[in-house]
Amino acid sequence: MKDPDCIFCKIAAGEIPAMKVCEDDAALAFMDIGPLAEGHVLLVPKTHAETLDGMSAEQAAAVLRHLPALVGAVKAATGCEGVNVLQNNGRVAHQVVPHVHFHIIPRNSGDEFHFNWPAGEYPPGRAERLAESIRDNLSG
Ligand code: 5GP
Ligand code: ZN
Repeated sequence: MKDPDCIFCKIAAGEIPAMKVCEDDAALAFMDIGPLAEGHVLLVPKTHAETLDGMSAEQAAAVLRHLPALVGAVKAATGCEGVNVLQNNGRVAHQVVPHVHFHIIPRNSGDEFHFNWPAGEYPPGRAERLAESIRDNLSG
């Protein structure tokens, strides 16, 4: 399924160009046009889904199976020290292109990419209640 207004659907269909690095029936990986570091690659499903929870487990598995090799190839090609795999869902989570994509971002000490990671703490009982609710939603 393709969204006619979606830029990544158009790339997946070959309607607009991209620098491809691997491809099969389910997935496509290509160079990010605005790299956070040299070698920044995007991995996308060929079927349109806006966010990860809109994909079936089978569709997701068919895309994610490419990640280990891609991470290894990006490391080998760039000589980077580490790699972040990022996947944003929703504008509030910094998703700009509303078609599921995984960022594969080479990392080196002293690079310009910084996380704000404000780790918090649960009040007593809160984590248990949330875990129960998540379990219920998984089984429901
Ligand atoms: P997001 O913020 O949605 O997680 O990331 C979208 C990514 O898509 C950005 O890193 C941006 O540079 C990349 N991008 C947006 N439009 C294009 C395009 O037309 N071609 C390619 N190759 N990358 C794109
Ligand atoms: Zn799309």
